[in-house]
Amino acid sequence: MSDADRARGAAIELIALTKRYGPGPAAVDGIALKIAAGSYCCLLGPSGCGKSTTLRMIAGHETVSEGTVLLGGHDITALPAAARGTAMMFQSFALFPHLSALDNVAFSLKMKGVAKAERQARAQDLLGRVAMGHLAQRKPGELSGGQQQRVALARALITEPRALLLDEPLSALDPFLRVQMRAELRRWQQELGLTFVHVTHSQEEAMALADTMVVMNHGRIEQVGSPLDVYNRPASEFVARFMGGHNVLDTPQGRVGVRTDRTELVVADAAPAPHAQRVVVSDVEYQGTYVLVGLQMPDAARDVSATAALSAMVSEDRFNAQPLAVGQPVWLSWAPEAAHPLAH
Ligand code: ADP
Ligand code: MG
Repeated sequence: MSDADRARGAAIELIALTKRYGPGPAAVDGIALKIAAGSYCCLLGPSGCGKSTTLRMIAGHETVSEGTVLLGGHDITALPAAARGTAMMFQSFALFPHLSALDNVAFSLKMKGVAKAERQARAQDLLGRVAMGHLAQRKPGELSGGQQQRVALARALITEPRALLLDEPLSALDPFLRVQMRAELRRWQQELGLTFVHVTHSQEEAMALADTMVVMNHGRIEQVGSPLDVYNRPASEFVARFMGGHNVLDTPQGRVGVRTDRTELVVADAAPAPHAQRVVVSDVEYQGTYVLVGLQMPDAARDVSATAALSAMVSEDRFNAQPLAVGQPVWLSWAPEAAHPLAH
């Protein structure tokens, strides 16, 4: 890949971006976000939180109620989709089954009225760039999932976008292919130097891919940061629960999050630390290299909601040295530095 092909990614900035479909709460509610040029950004959150609407407003497939979208510092809020410098990649790649790989890639140029010889030459060149030049005449059904993804990528790249927008591109794939395809997406993003904005509801997928993770809830941004930041220091109770792997606890110091693998279980009569909580083992699940011990507050009969659940990840060796049985009372404790405060 030549230097000219690299680092074409543009920064994206969303300013007070809002989408209202009707009366009631906004689908996207005044969000502010800066996405660095050439970075991989994942918009993450539960179904209905406004991820696709945000992406579609960046793409120009949805009108903006209020606010501004900047691409490379230029206001693109009112531009039609085809004039923005963005391209979309959809779930399961959405290739035309009756067209060859070459014609799939050339399709948008055909729509723009580019002459056949030129559009085919450009499509062939792009297929070559994603190592698919030799399969240009195959139809999607004659290609593996990985090869189809490369065709979809070439099809998106033919408009020479400065940002690629991906809406749950991997969610319809089987788990094995999904993991392979996401590694390939990451590799192409780095190779191309393009800005990628990838919508997913999978914490695991976002953690694996993102330079920057944006956790959304009810049309708002809860937290922005690297996967490491977000996982180690969730800003709010929502993020801690949504990311998983955290216990949310009420202590005299306030509400805190403690990673389940930083949580200790102590069998003793007396509390091992002032903040330790008396709990009862409710479940023991062997998970291979560790044992997941489910826990309940002794008075949990009053509150058995899933969000009140606590757990501890105990190494296999440690569990074998001190096996625990369902119904057994234990102290749930942690090193003070393992707890971080959570906003409501
Ligand atoms: P996500 O992609 O995070 O699952 P969406 O952005 O698709 O969420 O939807 C956000 C909210 O906006 C949801 O409450 C959804 O029902 C609503 N919504 C999305 N698209 C439309 C539409 N075209 N018309 C009306 N409401 C919509
Ligand atoms: Mg969606």
